[in-house]
Amino acid sequence: MAVATGREYGLFINGEPAEPASGELRELVEPATGEPLAKVAVANEADVDRAVEAARAALEGDWAKTPPTERSRLLHALADALVANRKELAELEARNVGKAISSVKAELAQAVENFRFYASAIASIAGRSNPVGGSLLFYSLKEPVGVCGQIVPWNYPLMMTTWKLAPALAAGCTVVLKPDSATPLSALRMAELAGEVGFPPGAINVVPGPGPVVGAHLVRHPGVEKIAFTGSTATGSEIMRLASDGIKRLILELGGKSPNLVFADANLDDAIPSSVWSIYYSAGQSCEARSRVLVEKPAYDDFVSRFSEAAATLKLGDPLDPETQVGSLISTEHRDRVHGYVEAGRDEGAEVVTGGEATEGKGAFYPPTVLAQVDNSMKVAQEEIFGPVVTVIPFEDEKDAARIANDVRYGLMATVWTGDPARGHRLARRIKAGTVGINMPYTAFPGIPFGGYKQSGFGRELGLETLDAYLETKSVIVSTSPKPFNPFGL
Ligand code: NAD
Repeated sequence: MAVATGREYGLFINGEPAEPASGELRELVEPATGEPLAKVAVANEADVDRAVEAARAALEGDWAKTPPTERSRLLHALADALVANRKELAELEARNVGKAISSVKAELAQAVENFRFYASAIASIAGRSNPVGGSLLFYSLKEPVGVCGQIVPWNYPLMMTTWKLAPALAAGCTVVLKPDSATPLSALRMAELAGEVGFPPGAINVVPGPGPVVGAHLVRHPGVEKIAFTGSTATGSEIMRLASDGIKRLILELGGKSPNLVFADANLDDAIPSSVWSIYYSAGQSCEARSRVLVEKPAYDDFVSRFSEAAATLKLGDPLDPETQVGSLISTEHRDRVHGYVEAGRDEGAEVVTGGEATEGKGAFYPPTVLAQVDNSMKVAQEEIFGPVVTVIPFEDEKDAARIANDVRYGLMATVWTGDPARGHRLARRIKAGTVGINMPYTAFPGIPFGGYKQSGFGRELGLETLDAYLETKSVIVSTSPKPFNPFGL
């Protein structure tokens, strides 16, 4: 089904599309063509207030009365609805973000599995009872944290929305979700589908709008108990400040500059194509992109030339073409920012082996780019470029590799390529990152905790422990003795 261009999307509050208080609509443009795509309502503080009120009413009303088995059925029903509407959702996401539809399909499949994982994981929500001695009986209750403000970025709007919604709803919380104002379409459509499959009004509300206004108001809102944020480290730090007044519970999924370690004993026929995928997937606009490739010196020259040849063969272009491997970047402004990093790399002495110039035309395309002869202290090795640009850094030995891998403020992901399994496990312990892959490029699976060390944030998503982050533990202690306690002996 072709997506209707020019359609107007409202906010989604209390189970239905809602007009924004300001009446303001934003014209969305397809990053790959520069053509208009749709018009979307822009929320303001008053809309956030309305959404929080609806979420609070659902939390204390219909959603509170929905038993866990029914919450599980609804999450499965939403997963089914995503499958039934996959063509529309995939096209909407590919055109809104500019990313290759082959990538979007994989993300959508993961989104469906994520809802199913948390639909099943509801069965694990349980308190406990253990002996406290004497006549006292203790048991604990697991209760939803409350109304959750969830803020997602533009790079994976659909997948990030499902990462956030699924555990919150499974735990019995209600949600006010703020997508990026440039990429709200899949989240708004998902909220409509949730309403259609029977989620009660107010359980899910969506208010796209500018971060410093709408996002900040949501974080500070006294009616919100918890904030789950995915975005840049700079915004994450601002959110910590804003959330501190209300002692809000926080999950922060932030930036990365993840290393990909290639030892000379690795199977390069596997390591090279996988390393190419690990940076250029989603045009490098991934938090966990392995943007620093560390290569053991004896293999360095061969690796750089084979990696660069492979990168240059990637098919760049129309996001809707199923053969496309690298779509456009999110905007021409972002493309120029990415190019600025490449120029900075050149100035610092890096060699541009392939790519390095923006593609002509209206779309925000940038070719897969390889910067070689990079030192880890360079700006291009330390800062998140968030585009299809890899830095290739030589190392001496295992100790040197671990040192360089950790010599960055982030710690989201790392991949190790080696023919020595014991070395893989040693490095998994040494590297400060939330996830370490050994001879395997993939990063995120429903059921496996995902999140950061250091300035990549804290809290884990996708895992069973995520449910706990949306639950409070209440201890109940009861006397079973017929005698009064009378502690003062009165
Ligand atoms: P960003 O921090 O600029 O924006 C993210 C979201 O926060 C947007 O919805 C934005 O509107 C909102 N926002 C901005 N300022 C705000 C404020 N003051 N208060 C409340 N909300 C505010 O990030 P971005 O550039 O859109 O996204 C890219 C970043 O996200 C990269 O750094 C990337 O690494 C990170 N990211 C991390 C993960 C992860 O799981 N760790 C996943 C995807 C993206």
